[in-house]
Amino acid sequence: MTNIILLGPPGAGKGTQARRISERHGLVQLSTGDMLRAAVAAGTEVGLRAKEVMERGELVSDEIVIGIISERIDAPDCEKGFILDGFPRTLAQADALDRLLAAKSKWLDGVIEIRVDDEALVARIAGRFTCAKCGEGYNDTFKRPKVDGVCDKCGGTEFSRRADDNEETLRARLLAYYKETAPLIGYYYAKGLLHSVDGMADIDAVSAEVERVLGTLAGVSG
Ligand code: ADP
Ligand code: AMP
Repeated sequence: MTNIILLGPPGAGKGTQARRISERHGLVQLSTGDMLRAAVAAGTEVGLRAKEVMERGELVSDEIVIGIISERIDAPDCEKGFILDGFPRTLAQADALDRLLAAKSKWLDGVIEIRVDDEALVARIAGRFTCAKCGEGYNDTFKRPKVDGVCDKCGGTEFSRRADDNEETLRARLLAYYKETAPLIGYYYAKGLLHSVDGMADIDAVSAEVERVLGTLAGVSG
């Protein structure tokens, strides 16, 4: 069992790399952003509470996301290990994660920080779109489908763009990242769990670097 966190600003490539790790190693991708968007789409109580906060690019309350993760980690598919993508995002969430993993006799094997220059994030976020059927991620500039309008993975022909993927909201999301989330880099460094990769390289090169780091962690099989 291997449990890891992917850390980095919005648009760094966490979701892209999490999907690849998941396909290669069978670990489950746990994206609090995806879970919250699903709750918003389903109109659940959590969704109703999160919707406007997400549209503004601010962070949803710790209480909500900790509750979501705590429940999700108990599911049987997490037994083989999980990749946390977009969680934790505050020190309070990181502390809560520590406590809840300890209570479930689970642990973290490593934290992979994906480092990207701030100027690169605007193009990544503004150009992001995903297959509406399978969720595969694309980018207008950096990763277009091989055949225009057709998903490489599932052949789907419908794509969606996130409401919060615009330059204005990105500014609020970056601010939240630097105020609330960036301190986690030092937090995990001090715990001896931090590994940093160069997220400015192309997607395959970042994957290769991530694989190299995973190879140094106990429990990950090829
Ligand atoms: P995050 O989950 O960290 O917000 P994503 O994985 O969704 O980021 O990536 C944001 C956008 O940037 C997507 O459109 C993705 O295709 C693109 N992208 C991801 N990694 C890279 C990379 N190394 N180089 C260029 N574009 C990338
Ligand atoms: P993401 O898909 O990771 O870019 O997240 C999209 C939005 O969901 C963020 O801008 C936040 O509003 C919210 N969100 C996702 N994960 C968290 C979290 N761990 N803590 C607080 N808010 C979150």
